[in-house]
Amino acid sequence: MQMDAKFCMACGHELETRDVDGTMRRACTSCSFVHWGNYSIGVGALVVKEDKILLVRRAQEPGKGKWTNPGGYIEQMEAIQDTIQREVLEECGVQAIVKNVVALRDQPRSIHNLYVAFEMEYVSGEPVPDHVEVDAAGFFTLQELESMDVASFTQWLVDVAFHGRSEGLRLDLSPVVPLAGYGLFRV
Ligand SMILES: [Zn+2]
Repeated sequence: MQMDAKFCMACGHELETRDVDGTMRRACTSCSFVHWGNYSIGVGALVVKEDKILLVRRAQEPGKGKWTNPGGYIEQMEAIQDTIQREVLEECGVQAIVKNVVALRDQPRSIHNLYVAFEMEYVSGEPVPDHVEVDAAGFFTLQELESMDVASFTQWLVDVAFHGRSEGLRLDLSPVVPLAGYGLFRV
């Protein structure tokens, strides 16, 4: 059961229910805001160095004690590739840069979540946990992972990282037409 939004998140005026392109939606009585739904977007890093993958151990619920790849949630005004690079650095002190989008996870639920996984290139730094979000960090081989408590979804991503058969969507820093303000990833 989803609560109807009552007030506009853009201007604070009351919302009404009205037909927007054939679907009844909550929309503002004063500005152009439409409440499309509740969404969140997660980002994850797959950093492989010399056949080892960078994992962190979660220090917080949910999943406390489980090993996962570094990641987080996107911010309103930050480019998605900057967010994941910052998250990796903050969580475990490793500098890595975004190469490709290699996996997506769609999870329709009360807050519909989309998770974007990036293949990233290791630049520098030895893994050191931040002791806030994570309490251990390191690069591990597939064999080492077998005896670790790795989250199920992370196991799926590790398989993508080691056995993916495509390079995925490449970050396009010089698009063929100028598209200011877009983050562009393409085949
Ligand atoms: Zn409004």
